[in-house]
Amino acid sequence: LQVDGDFDVLIVGAGSAGCVLAWRLARAGRRVAVLEAGGTDRRLFVQMPLGYGKLYHDPAVNWCYRAEPDPGLDGAADYWPRGRVLGGSSAINAMVWCRGHRADYDDWGAAAGPGWGWEAALAAYQQIEDAEPPGAHRGRGGPLRLRGPRVSHPLVHPFLAACEAVGLPRTGDLNTAEPEGIGTFELTVAGGRRNSAARAFLRPALATGRVALRTKALVLRLLHEEGRVIGAVYQWQGAAHQIRAAETVLAGGAINSPQLLMLSGFGPGAMLQAQGVPVRRDLGAVGANLSDHQGLNYTWRMRVPTMNDRLRPWWGKALAGAQWLATGGGPLGASINHGGGFFRTDPGRARPNMQLYFQAFSTLIPRDGERPVLTPDPFPGLSIGLSNCRPTSTGRIALASPDPMAAPRIEMRAFATEADVDEMLAAVKWLRRIAGAAPFAALVAEELRPGPAVASDEDLILDFRRRSGTVYHPSGTCRMGRGHEGSVVGPDLRVHGVGGLRVCDASVFPNLIAGNTNAPAMLVGWLGADRMLS
Ligand SMILES: Cc1cc2nc3c(=O)[nH]c(=O)nc-3n(C[C@H](O)[C@H](O)[C@H](O)COP(=O)(O)OP(=O)(O)OC[C@H]3O[C@@H](n4cnc5c(N)ncnc54)[C@H](O)[C@@H]3O)c2cc1C
Repeated sequence: LQVDGDFDVLIVGAGSAGCVLAWRLARAGRRVAVLEAGGTDRRLFVQMPLGYGKLYHDPAVNWCYRAEPDPGLDGAADYWPRGRVLGGSSAINAMVWCRGHRADYDDWGAAAGPGWGWEAALAAYQQIEDAEPPGAHRGRGGPLRLRGPRVSHPLVHPFLAACEAVGLPRTGDLNTAEPEGIGTFELTVAGGRRNSAARAFLRPALATGRVALRTKALVLRLLHEEGRVIGAVYQWQGAAHQIRAAETVLAGGAINSPQLLMLSGFGPGAMLQAQGVPVRRDLGAVGANLSDHQGLNYTWRMRVPTMNDRLRPWWGKALAGAQWLATGGGPLGASINHGGGFFRTDPGRARPNMQLYFQAFSTLIPRDGERPVLTPDPFPGLSIGLSNCRPTSTGRIALASPDPMAAPRIEMRAFATEADVDEMLAAVKWLRRIAGAAPFAALVAEELRPGPAVASDEDLILDFRRRSGTVYHPSGTCRMGRGHEGSVVGPDLRVHGVGGLRVCDASVFPNLIAGNTNAPAMLVGWLGADRMLS
């Protein structure tokens, strides 16, 4: 389809939610235009699962944001990668597929109505997924194949045994209604290649002939007429263009969607005025309520070979490359997260409150311009990491400039609450407990980070303030809610008081889900389509 002409729906952003939405709308007969700031995902390191490390800092596929210096992180300005490519962040992420805990969706239901509660989420996930683990609650035959290797490194076994030894039960399915326990993650990988939203949804959507896609098309601002949004202005091949549609849907993600609203005059009035942007509607919640999981790794030198030994030498990489090309398997066909799961830092907690990650390699020695996953440390090392599930600290996205090419300000304010600090302190102690348990302990040579000298509560807190950071799950910045107070969109994803405009991506989450956010972002695309088609 040509991008000229009028459309039923304009979708801004071909990320996790935008691709799902495009697929469902096109199958229902709608004429859809998709504008994506990034380019093609037909790139080796997007297709190769462990290419993750190469995409992490690559401006060709990544917005490469930098957050403001954060007092909660001892003043660090945290690096925030976000996908800028077909598939959005699902094309550069670590591919872990976790739907999250039913109670988190019950919280969505309380905030936005039963259409967003657990029953609705479960029904949608069952249609989205083509999963392997058996169980009545899982989806079979859906458009999203989940076929990652279940055990991708032999050191997973002693890790799981050590978790069990310290009382963290083993589980064979981290996508039950109430996931708890440690196991291996399901991955958005199929046939040894990354299964991004572009691959699973956008390409089939394009095949319907009802979707027009323009890549490297940066939407600059929305077009209005008599209080209604009627399309957008975008930059493409060095010139500004206009596109019109009966409805416009922002699916630019939790950083860009609020920025685009603010650039178009929808946001906190005083902030817009300070930037010289004419206020069309004063919406205080735009950019507010920024929620993200914070995480960090502990790293050990091992007595036995880890993935470092396999991937570090050139010939190791060559062998792994040949294996991946021939079979889609081996270290390059897996996520960086070889195992993990959910646990409670203390048994009195109502729900699991920490996510654990096991990575059978280490990257203590950083290299400029890349996260050196493919060239890890020159000794046998590995890391166990964790991230909080329901942090209470929130930040905001603010407009730094009226220039749409300029990045917005990311003010995270991590670990601003005592509850978040206490919880993380309790959590990091579990990492040493696990590493000190049989049979894992016998394989450990020494703790490298933070190192045994970091032992007091005070030092442990200082260490995680210094070394932790985003686990790339920002959300909530165009929060969905039933009332106008404290939210940006209603349960139908319409922006309060603005005609012709909806938001459909991770920015609408009423609260963070305990788990990684690709699944709930795709869910928002799926359920958002229901709202638009009803
Ligand atoms: C490094 C990294 C690792 C991660 N690991 C995992 C993981 O293992 N498992 C998991 O579940 N989640 C993971 N996540 C998070 C998950 O991928 C995201 O939460 C999810 O993809 C967000 O979906 P979205 O639809 O909200 O936005 P995105 O997928 O980010 O899509 C937004 C799209 O909109 C485009 N866009 C933005 N502004 C404009 C504009 N003005 N004009 C045109 N286009 C625009 C962007 O280029 C992008 O393609 C990770 C994320 C990152 C960055």
